[in-house]
Amino acid sequence: MIKENVKNLLNSLPEGVKLVVAAKTRTVEEINEAILGGASIIGENYVQEAKRKFDAVGSRVKWHLIGHLQKNKAKTAVRIFDMIETLDSWELAVVLNKECQKIGKQLPVLIEVNSASEPQKQGVFIDDVESLLKDILRLEYLKPCGLMTMGPNVSKQQDLKEYFKKTRELFFNIGRSNLELCDWRYLSMGMSGSYKIALEQGANIVRVGTAIFGERSLK
Ligand SMILES: *Cc1c(COP(=O)(O)O)cnc(C)c1O
Repeated sequence: MIKENVKNLLNSLPEGVKLVVAAKTRTVEEINEAILGGASIIGENYVQEAKRKFDAVGSRVKWHLIGHLQKNKAKTAVRIFDMIETLDSWELAVVLNKECQKIGKQLPVLIEVNSASEPQKQGVFIDDVESLLKDILRLEYLKPCGLMTMGPNVSKQQDLKEYFKKTRELFFNIGRSNLELCDWRYLSMGMSGSYKIALEQGANIVRVGTAIFGERSLK
């Protein structure tokens, strides 16, 4: 079932769009089944959980961090992940850069945008993204490649459209005005209930869990 779901989803995505299989709470067996269906990127929210699965599954797939990263987990994170989609502060960027330097790794990162400017949510406010980006560009080991957003919790998924649109506009404006950003190409938006809306708004990475694995159990 998981295998078929991944296959069908991959077939339905437009050319050039990457699927991140959001695997929090899922087992190694479930991940392996997704890989049999063609999954090539696994998204994890927690470093400890990712480490356990990375040790079992290995680097035949890419690993993206899609949850908030605490600075004290940066050392492990830079060893596991091929991309951090949730870079949301200068302090975190500095710590990541230092850990990358130790192992000589260039790390692709996306800046997480708090596209609805919700005070208690992770992510950088739209107006602050470009100045954070300019700072990150001074860090030798981080490679800013684009933006990621979750959007607010809404009762109707269609209401996410305006936040995806805002994030896309920011993504394109930054790309246009910073031509030295040669790796600026990823816009990660949309989950199981919203990836179709996100694709209409220009997402080229979608992060899907439930539509592949089924509902998450509460514990
Ligand atoms: C869990 C999660 C997803 C996937 O959500 P589903 O609704 O299960 O598809 C996507 N992005 C992030 C950041 C997540 O934490």
